[in-house]
Formats: sequence, structure tokens, C-alpha cells
Amino acid sequence: MTLSGDMLIGQRAVRGTAGTLQAINPASNEKFGPDFGVGGSAEIDQACTLAQQAFDGYRSCSAEQRAQFLETIASGILALGAELISRASQETGLPAVRLMIERSRTVAQLRLFAGIARSGQYLGATLDSALPERIPPRADLRLRKIALGPVAVFGASNFPLAFSVAGGDTAAALAAGCPVIVKAHGAHLGTSELVGRVIQAAVASCCLPDGVFSLLIGDGNQFGQDLVSHPAIKAVAFTGSRQGGLALMRTAALRREPIPVFAEMSCINPMFLLPAALAARAPQIAAGFVEALVTGVGQFCTSPGLLLAIDGAPLLQFLAAAVSALQNKAAGTMLTASISNAYANGVGRLNEMVSVRLLGKGLAAKNGCSAQAALFVTDAATFLATPQLEDENFGPSALIVACRDAEEMQTVAEYISGQLTATLHMDSADHDLARKLLPTLERKAGRILVNAYPTGVEVSHAMVHGGPFPASSDSRSTAVGATAIERFLRPVCYQDLPAELMPPELRDENPLGLWRILNGECVRT
Ligand code: NAP
Repeated sequence: MTLSGDMLIGQRAVRGTAGTLQAINPASNEKFGPDFGVGGSAEIDQACTLAQQAFDGYRSCSAEQRAQFLETIASGILALGAELISRASQETGLPAVRLMIERSRTVAQLRLFAGIARSGQYLGATLDSALPERIPPRADLRLRKIALGPVAVFGASNFPLAFSVAGGDTAAALAAGCPVIVKAHGAHLGTSELVGRVIQAAVASCCLPDGVFSLLIGDGNQFGQDLVSHPAIKAVAFTGSRQGGLALMRTAALRREPIPVFAEMSCINPMFLLPAALAARAPQIAAGFVEALVTGVGQFCTSPGLLLAIDGAPLLQFLAAAVSALQNKAAGTMLTASISNAYANGVGRLNEMVSVRLLGKGLAAKNGCSAQAALFVTDAATFLATPQLEDENFGPSALIVACRDAEEMQTVAEYISGQLTATLHMDSADHDLARKLLPTLERKAGRILVNAYPTGVEVSHAMVHGGPFPASSDSRSTAVGATAIERFLRPVCYQDLPAELMPPELRDENPLGLWRILNGECVRT
């Protein structure tokens, strides 16, 4: 497919006239074509108006039609073949193998949401029968969830497929019945166009309203601010920096009609190395940790950036093994020059702190955009007294905090902010300490792992990829997994609605065969 550099507004390709952008290969720092036309407020308005017009038609199409739409997108992405992988690799510096895995995950995500749309369980159909004899009488009450409206999705830089144009946010919103307007991430514009064209073609082949999907290209913060400010937008999904997420939350809250922003932002994913596990297998845990740290050049929202352990011989053994594993790790190319500069500055700040010691490094950076992995160590008292040590340094660096004893480890656990994940490395002799830590970790993190590393995120029904601030803007939701659809739904209750006007999922005869809550009991009748 020849890239045009155009935005996709419904079924049209629209050339932005507010400037041009080019892709940059982060490995060579070379720009390459085509020129992408930058849009402005006129294009935002066209896409949002079209999405608003499409909303009622799209949300009322059948579950089967929506599911087939998602499956058509999945097949279309696969059909792009090597072209997609090669373009994404050139734009992001990510290796082809990693991108193929990410493509499989993206396709699996779309298919998962197709299944969810078909099942209808997300509708939450609930019926309370009328009680005319009761004093006071109760009306007939029936609840279902409906789509929120057009959703603005900000593609993430670090997952050009799985968290971008046809990523988890888009799949969940489309499955819920919401039209989607994606703001392409400037770090993978060509990849965005390729995937955007697949969605555009799927809208046409599935006979859906034009405005179900648009892909916009903007340059600078104002563009995203204007998109979030548009009255037709009813929710925002974002993955990126804390600064960007907070800025969009402020804009959304100050609108005439405030709207929810589901922002996944920053965290450091603490790993707790409990004493018995550390004494039993410090070298193995260290090897697994270093692998996780450098995976994807540390550019994962679930990268392990903080380790806590009790001071002593097993910790020294762990540190020696980690340093030895790290020193041979090659410097990997980061996604963009600004991400790589931010990482280098973060490492520089840690290097300058007198109470923080550089423990070991990976191999030196080989080009302007590559990142040398780094491991730092400090004590719990310093960590508790230095709020900056909790800041995410996006990339392959981590801080190890040596605690005096188990009590101090608990104090640090209580101190840390919201996280996507918290990991316990433990043996059965550690269960008492784990039991004490768990209530705290439940309050702090969206996912608690045992004897594993947090970087892999399964796409499944039970997954939670969210957490208290600053991991995300709303700890009640997840960006990955089946329940991600809940973000784009709201409940409506029908009181005494005549049978002929009742939506199928709430009709007495249950024509869709859904599991429903009938007078408080889960039934399929
Ligand atoms: P970003 O700077 O937050 O940008 C993400 C998207 O939001 C881009 O489309 C950007 O477009 C837009 N945006 C950013 N600030 C905005 C604002 N104030 N108003 C409106 N729109 C705004 O993230 P990034 O470019 O992917 O990476 C930068 C840093 O984000 C990284 O160094 C890392 O610290 C963090 N990050 C974290 C995660 C994570 O999962 N925790 C993932 C990726 C990145 P414009 O720049 O065109 O406005």
C-alpha cells in the first residue's frame, strides 16, 4: 500500500494543510517519506461531527455486525503482512520479531472484543419486576448499559500496534458501540496510516456509518487539547506521560460538559524480594529481573523500576548477579530522540544524588537514540526522604532500595504511590510477611504478581492493567482485558417502558439468550 500522508476522516482521505511531518528513524536519525499533512481545528470538527452523526446508527447495529467489524479489522492487519512490520520497525527502532508478537497481540485483542460484543454480557442486563401490591408499589425497572459516545484515542508511542490506532482502547470503544477518533502518535505516522486504512476499509465493507472511525494528524499539544475540547467527544483514552495525561484531564474537566479521561501514565512497578526467596535463589531472580529491565529497552509501562529487599548477604548476592548480567546487555534504540534524552537526563539526575549509588551499567550507547541500562542502589531512609526517587525514568534503569528489616519494607510499601503492578518474589517461609504486605499492595496496584516479572500483560478476561494515580487517572478501570469495555459504557434504567419499545436484551422473552440478573438472581431465562 502506498502511503499518502493524509488524514482519514470517515471514508475520505484529507490532506492536512497546517504543515508537514516526516517519520524519523530513531536508529539513524534520518527522516523519511512521505510528508504527512498536519490538520487543525477544521479537520477535528469534521471528524467529530461525523462521529456524532454515526453514533446512534453504530451503537444500535447488531452485536454480530460489530463483532464482524472487529474481526475484519484483525484480518486486515494480518493481511498487511511484512509491509506493516517493516514500516513500524523503521519508525520505532523496535525489532521485527517484537513487532510480530505485538501484531499477534493486537489481533487477539480485536478478536477478544469481538467475542465480548457477541456475548452481550457487558450490557449488564438487569430486571426488577414490578411489585404493584407492595406499599409503596414498585415500578417495572430494567437496566442495560449503552455506549458513551465518540471517544478520542491518543495512540501510545511505545506500542505502535497494540496501544495505538487499532489497539486496546480502540477495540474496547468500538466493541462498546462508540465511534473512535484516533490522534496518530507522531513517532509512527506511517504505521498509523496503514492500520487506519484497514479500519476505514472495514467500516465500508461492514456497511457501517462513515464516521465510526477517523484518524487525525496534529502537531503540538494544542491539537490534542482541541480534540478533547470538542463537544461531540464523550470520553478520552490516553497512554503516555504523566504531564500529557494530566493536561488532558484538566481540559476535559474544564469543558462545559466535563468528560472522563482514562489515562495510563507513569509508575515504577515495585518488586518485593522477600527474605526466604532471596536467600534461596538470588542469582535466578537477578537474571530474570535484568531480562525484564532491558526488554523493549525498558519502554514498557510495566517495566520493573524499583526493587525492595532486606539488607544482608542474600541482597549482596543478588546485586552481584544483577550487575554481572547487566554489564553485557547491549544498548537498545529508544523510540524517539526526546524519549532517549529524557531517559539520559533521568539517569544523570540519579548519578548526581549523593545518597544514591550507581551499581552497574549495560554496554555503552551506540547511537544518539540508544539507552545504556543502569542500576542504582539506595537505602530506605533516603528513598522515603526523596520524593524524586519515585519518578518514572522511562527506559532501562531501576533503583534497588535496601531496607533495614521487614518492618521498614512495609513502611516503604505504604509510602509508594499508585502502580500498575506490584510483584512479590517469595517462598512458603515468606507467607507471613506476604500476608502483611498484601492489603497494602492491593491498595497500591492493579495487578499483584508472584514469582514473575511484570513486563508481560496477558490479554484476557481477568487482566487488570490500571491502578491508582499516577499509574492511571481512574483506578476503577483497566486499559487491557475484557473489562476495558466498561470505560465506554453507562447504565440506563427503563421504568415501565412498554414491551414493544423495550430493547431486545431487556425483553421478557430474552430473545438474545443472555445471562441476566432477574430480581437479584443470575438466570438465562
Ligand atoms: P506524551 O508526550 O505524553 O505524548 C502522548 C500523546 O499525547 C501524543 O500524541 C502527544 O501529542 C499528546 N500530548 C502530550 N502532551 C499533551 C498535552 N499537554 N496536550 C495535548 N496532547 C498532548 O508521550 P510520549 O511521546 O509517548 O513519550 C513521552 C514520555 O511519556 C516518555 O518519556 C515516558 O516518560 C512517558 N510514557 C509513558 C508510558 C507509560 O506507559 N507509562 C508510555 C509512553 C510514554 P503532541 O506531542 O503532538 O501534543
